[in-house]
Amino acid sequence: MAYVIGDSCVSCGSCAAECPVSAISEGDGKYVIDADTCIDCGTCAATCPTGAIEG
Ligand code: SF4
Repeated sequence: MAYVIGDSCVSCGSCAAECPVSAISEGDGKYVIDADTCIDCGTCAATCPTGAIEG
């Protein structure tokens, strides 16, 4: 299962900058994770300032 970004995302971009496989991009109102690219490392969840990312 890939990690998922929830509604508490404030589009700060911190996760996208940290993702080692560049799976995160800016979406409509929040950032989104490409499930096919994500390797489930958890780096984004640890980086998110609002705790918006769940695995
Ligand atoms: Fe990227 Fe790792 Fe987050 Fe997946 S879990 S989106 S690979 S930082």
